[in-house]
Amino acid sequence: MAKEAADFRRIQSLVRQHERWLSESLPLIASENVTSKAVREVLTSDLGHRYAEGWPGERVYAGCKYIDKIELEAIALAKRLFRAEFADVRPISGACANLAVYSVLSDPGDTMMALAIPNGGHISAGKKEFSGTAGLVHGLDIEYFVFDKQSMNIDVDETKKKLRKLKADGRKLKIVMFGGSLLLFPQPVTEISSVAEEIGAVPCYDAAHVAGLIAGGQFQDPLREGAHIMNFSTHKTLFGPQGGTIVSRAQYGEGIKKAVFPGTSSNHHLHNVAAKALTFAEFLKYGKPYAKAVTVNALALAERLSDLGENVVGANVGFTKSHTVALDVTKYGDGGTVEEKLEDMNIIVNRQLLPGDLQAGRHYTNPGGIRLGVPELTRLGMKKGEMQEVAEILHFALNTDRVTEVKRRVGKLRKSHLKVQYSFEESPAFFYR
Ligand SMILES: *Cc1c(COP(=O)(O)O)cnc(C)c1O
Repeated sequence: MAKEAADFRRIQSLVRQHERWLSESLPLIASENVTSKAVREVLTSDLGHRYAEGWPGERVYAGCKYIDKIELEAIALAKRLFRAEFADVRPISGACANLAVYSVLSDPGDTMMALAIPNGGHISAGKKEFSGTAGLVHGLDIEYFVFDKQSMNIDVDETKKKLRKLKADGRKLKIVMFGGSLLLFPQPVTEISSVAEEIGAVPCYDAAHVAGLIAGGQFQDPLREGAHIMNFSTHKTLFGPQGGTIVSRAQYGEGIKKAVFPGTSSNHHLHNVAAKALTFAEFLKYGKPYAKAVTVNALALAERLSDLGENVVGANVGFTKSHTVALDVTKYGDGGTVEEKLEDMNIIVNRQLLPGDLQAGRHYTNPGGIRLGVPELTRLGMKKGEMQEVAEILHFALNTDRVTEVKRRVGKLRKSHLKVQYSFEESPAFFYR
């Protein structure tokens, strides 16, 4: 008895320790964010105990009279936010949303074009040999966009040529999946979508990272530029609960519904649906100034780091137009070592494969880069001035072994940024500690 109680308390204590540590740290993971109090409260509501398989009004379970209303609100808000004809808010993650889209548009053995991982692609659009979701789970063959390292973007002419050649070679290319996980610049969706359509492939956009920037009108607008479907996570630049959503042209609605349920999920985490609805409402109100601040902050961080002598990727094309900054850290060893060193100093970043890394003999555990994202710091109210300080702390941290000194500077900066902004009421970022 005593042992179980001790186990129980130890686990609670670990969660508190995590919150305390994070509250004294600089969170710079590009795929992370923080939710408002209203969103966090609804995540702990009774909705998280319930089942509601299927579509509102056509459920497999009783007890859904309010759940149906909440989900219909979430759908309507998602359609408004992304100006889409159809929305499905049920996917339980970005990767599950992607898998549903693959299932709607293709069969195993077909081909999809996506970004290679060192060029910013995500493992959910990866090949079977790397255990990528698209290859391993749905049996897709993956062909890569031709990528131009200099501009850190898709090479339009070479990619068009490649698409036509794949068609001529008899490959069944069904999906051209734009988007990615290291996305510094808007992609040439307009330029490539018409060729994709011409060869019978559906242009789609994986906006897992940039959905919030898109909703806030600060990046690009894939559904207006030629993408038929946009699938994304709801918790990266879009500051909601961890989950996924798909928006699309009306013609794909019925297919997506079936691919989400029963195709790729059974119950769909109803507390998250309510939290998504609240997030979409917050975003309709605050998304524009937030997304603007995110892009301004990312650029400010990149410019200051570059001024300090850091090797910021994309220097000749203006560093970034998104929420992300990529640093080449090969002068300090590799991204893995740097990630660990910074974590010991309460600066949380992640290692990043960069274009050319594989050719140089580097791989995922020791890549050439780190990736920095500013969405969370922005939601905590940081502006350009604080970005200068973040850059200076990072530069100092990379060049010193004085762990205590770095932690002190990080803690001091963080102390005045513990509240979640861009929501209907300002709220604390941490409850549990
Ligand atoms: C993060 C990410 C995903 C996966 O999203 P999860 O919500 O973590 O499942 C898919 N695609 C891209 C491009 C991503 O960056």
